[in-house]
Amino acid sequence: MENKDSLTPNKRVALHTLGCRLNSSETGSIAQGFKDRGYDIVDFGEAADVVFINTCTVTDAADSTCRNLIRKAHGSSPEGKIVVAGCYAQMEPEKIAGMQGVDLVLGNSEKYKVFEYLDEEGENQIHVDKSGEFFGGATTTADSHTRAFLKIQDGCNYICAFCIIPFARGRSRAISIADAVTEAKKLVSSGFKEIVLTGVNIGEYEHTSGEKLHDLVASLLAIDGLERFRLSSVEPNTITDELIEVLKSSPKVQDHFHIPLQSGDDEILKGMRRKYTVADYRQIINKLMLAFPNAGIGADMIVGFPGETKEQFENTFNLARELPLTHFHVFPYSKRKNTTAAKMENHIHHAEKKQRVKSLLMFGDAKLNLFTEDQVGKKTKVLFERRNKHGLFEGYSSNYIRVQVQTDLDLSNQICEVYLSGIENGKLIGEIIQ
Ligand code: SF4
Repeated sequence: MENKDSLTPNKRVALHTLGCRLNSSETGSIAQGFKDRGYDIVDFGEAADVVFINTCTVTDAADSTCRNLIRKAHGSSPEGKIVVAGCYAQMEPEKIAGMQGVDLVLGNSEKYKVFEYLDEEGENQIHVDKSGEFFGGATTTADSHTRAFLKIQDGCNYICAFCIIPFARGRSRAISIADAVTEAKKLVSSGFKEIVLTGVNIGEYEHTSGEKLHDLVASLLAIDGLERFRLSSVEPNTITDELIEVLKSSPKVQDHFHIPLQSGDDEILKGMRRKYTVADYRQIINKLMLAFPNAGIGADMIVGFPGETKEQFENTFNLARELPLTHFHVFPYSKRKNTTAAKMENHIHHAEKKQRVKSLLMFGDAKLNLFTEDQVGKKTKVLFERRNKHGLFEGYSSNYIRVQVQTDLDLSNQICEVYLSGIENGKLIGEIIQ
């Protein structure tokens, strides 16, 4: 939006997100708020009037990255207002406020009120509410104007041994089915074809809102004009038969799920305080595959948890080989102070963790390649986003693989049926079926 009332240029804001997809979606909402107020969005690292950093505190290393980014922001925008928000801000507000150049420190609930706080005078302001009130559903675009995230839940009541999130985001809260449907209808009427349901632990929805997650999903799937639907990460122990039935009943549900595994060894799962066993995980994946035989399945895995022996790591490796997992998200265990795991004995040496991550990731790449090759010769529906640097139109298949087609047409935000004819540069290449 250009400022027409004067020759004053628009204010500039640079935003940066660390951490999870939920954080990215929240930054997206806030970026939209800045745009609506006439700000131009510039790249992080360019001089800006406001620099907004949405932080993560999942490990000690994440905290250190946040501090480096704050220094970088002050270097590139010495006159700009630096706002540090999100999980790390929630955990260590005073420490952050004491850093050079920081003007505002906002907790997870307060970050949405950044515009009001920016209007207030003063430096080193801290606004962090520890009560963890829910603020309502936050929605935003993803990487294009095709998919939107719909946040239905925040916080977590679990106490996984490696995780600080319940302290940073508070106890689980959720919006009602009625509010979620209203938000989703708004997204559909503004042109989004695909909705991704997000939250910190969306499987906790029922316990928090009192309404059933499968009823919420059924209500969203019934919305006219919504064409594609995905769930973001869902804890395996929260995937019920009713939920699978509802998902299976609608062609809008895409062939892609993200089910965190973390470890393929029961003793390590117990040490992590996860709420399922290897047998439970195996059963859930098998049920999903029966309902969605061509599904892509993503899984988070943490390797090198304190005390993890070579055999226990191999149990994870072997389970990942046995199950039809296609998208591996592998992380080395990383210490986060004030968690149970940080106080455990037998921390694994950095070099050993690195080696375990490398071997699992290499295996994951090979599995994804096989899965991708297996798609050649099949048909899929693709939601197209944009033309890539090679001049081909790109989007995601139902099972979450990038597909590119050669065409003169502008396919942005269109869903087309595509015959998958081959692979180029690691991506599927296809032809649109007329
Ligand atoms: S389920 Fe476990 S890992 Fe996930 S946010 Fe809750 S405590 Fe953290």
